[in-house]
Amino acid sequence: MLDLNKLSFEELDKLLEKVVEARNVAWEKMETLTIPHPGDGWNCFHCGMVFHHEHQARLHFGPTPESTPRCILERDTDLLVRQLRTLEEKHHEHSVE
Ligand SMILES: [Zn+2]
Repeated sequence: MLDLNKLSFEELDKLLEKVVEARNVAWEKMETLTIPHPGDGWNCFHCGMVFHHEHQARLHFGPTPESTPRCILERDTDLLVRQLRTLEEKHHEHSVE
C-alpha cells in the first residue's frame, strides 16, 4: 500500500494528476458502453446511492466492473488534495521563516 505521508510535494502533485487523468479516461470510456438495466436501478454498496438512469450509473460505476466507482475516486482524490494542501502549508511556513 502506498504511504502518502512519505511522498514529497512534487510526488503527491504528480500522483494527483494521474488520478484525475485516469478518472477522465474512465468517464470518456463510459460514453461508448451499454449496461443492462436491472429494473429497480443500480445500487452502490460503497456509498449507498441508487441510480435509475444508465448514464448516471455509468458516471458513478465506470465503464467496466473492474472500474473504481466515482465515490471511491472522489474520496481518494479528496485525501490527496488534503495531504497536498498540508504539504503546501508546511512548505509555505518553512519558506516564510
Ligand atoms: Zn458509490
